[in-house]
Amino acid sequence: MPKIPDEVVKRVIDRAKIEEVVGDFVDLRKAGVNLTGICPFHDDKHDGNFIVRPSTIPEARGGNTYRCFVCDAKGGPVQFLMAHERLSFPDAIRWLGKKYNEPVDDIPLNYTPPPPRPLPPPLPVLEIPRSYVKRTMDIATWGEVTFRTWYMSLPWDTEQLARAHETLWLYCVGGWKDGRVVFWQIDHNGVPRAAKLMKFYPQGHPKYGHRDKEAHPGWIYNQDGVRQRLEPEKHEIIKPLFGSHLLAKHPKAVVNIVESEKTALVMANYYGNFDSQLWLACGGLKHLQLDSLQPLIDQQRIIWLWPDKDGREAWQQVADKLGYDKCRVYTHFFDTCWREDDGDKADVADIAIRMMTTGEKPRKTTGNGQDATSVDASAGGEIGATHAHEPVKIGDIITEVWNTDEPFLDPIEMADPRVRMWREILRNKYNFRKTHEDEQTETSE
Ligand SMILES: [Zn+2]
Repeated sequence: MPKIPDEVVKRVIDRAKIEEVVGDFVDLRKAGVNLTGICPFHDDKHDGNFIVRPSTIPEARGGNTYRCFVCDAKGGPVQFLMAHERLSFPDAIRWLGKKYNEPVDDIPLNYTPPPPRPLPPPLPVLEIPRSYVKRTMDIATWGEVTFRTWYMSLPWDTEQLARAHETLWLYCVGGWKDGRVVFWQIDHNGVPRAAKLMKFYPQGHPKYGHRDKEAHPGWIYNQDGVRQRLEPEKHEIIKPLFGSHLLAKHPKAVVNIVESEKTALVMANYYGNFDSQLWLACGGLKHLQLDSLQPLIDQQRIIWLWPDKDGREAWQQVADKLGYDKCRVYTHFFDTCWREDDGDKADVADIAIRMMTTGEKPRKTTGNGQDATSVDASAGGEIGATHAHEPVKIGDIITEVWNTDEPFLDPIEMADPRVRMWREILRNKYNFRKTHEDEQTETSE
């Protein structure tokens, strides 16, 4: 079979427009400068992972290509036809030649549309019982969780210190029996989907307050005992942004997204006012993904991305791909507050902690008035103010908290200052320990 001359191939490829070729097979909608649709190469349920960069964008900036961020299918018009219609390269050229009225050769196109691919039955999405969240939070209250100890020991001012416990409660920060911290990933509808277990260096270690990078983070559904019950292998696992469950309660808040859970928690307590600023974490530089941002876009949220120093470019790219005009990369805090001695690896939390130590206040912006640091941090303090003087029987509260069969305690209710206050008193003053029964319930679950 004679080869199609190179110049003909080039001419055809130059004419082909990815949005038109893909558009023949996939419903595309506009998303900023890009187009998105349901990925035809994997069992996709979510419009937003499959991105088409139209031919109007210069090639150097990824124009005339498609890419799926889930299954990593990618290429240009020819690759799309070869993968989707199972065409050989010459036949893909002939197909395009026909579409764009560019004569290719006399060989007829050998093309019968492939039968629709049989899709594997979709797996149910993993839903973790809410009682698991409560249990890890119970462990965190009684047990030694290095991260919590460190967090509470930060140089908070009086107001910040007063709300620090509550911040941990609101974020449902739990603990594991071995002292690891549990960062729950509960979706915007309040359904626990995943939880990351992380080891932090203990007190006295030179890197106290930092994650032990030797110990890889674990996932709750992979832990002994849990795995057998939840059967993650039979489920699709989704990982919402850390803190997503707070969205519903604070519908007007600007959503700030940082890399690490630790940063989100430090910043959340630093500013305190959840009604105007919420702090969510994606879990790492590379984990900021389009589908986890989709719920925020659906809610028309203002999104500020706070990358670490080395992550600006990568997150700017994500923002560009998102094509959502209410999302931007926010670097003002970093630009105005970072100092040489913070080092290149510092993230915003490190800077905030240094500023707490030295008593500096973040500089306010004078320009656009959109500086997150101008947030009034007065809300969220005054813990216990309304309850402190009410007569409360210790016994009642303990019974209420420990014997509840409710599948889930709303974190706000769990953060009831009375409960917290009495737990602390019991722990610290009376050296109250977990009962044998508590241990039993923990290990039996
Ligand atoms: Zn895909």
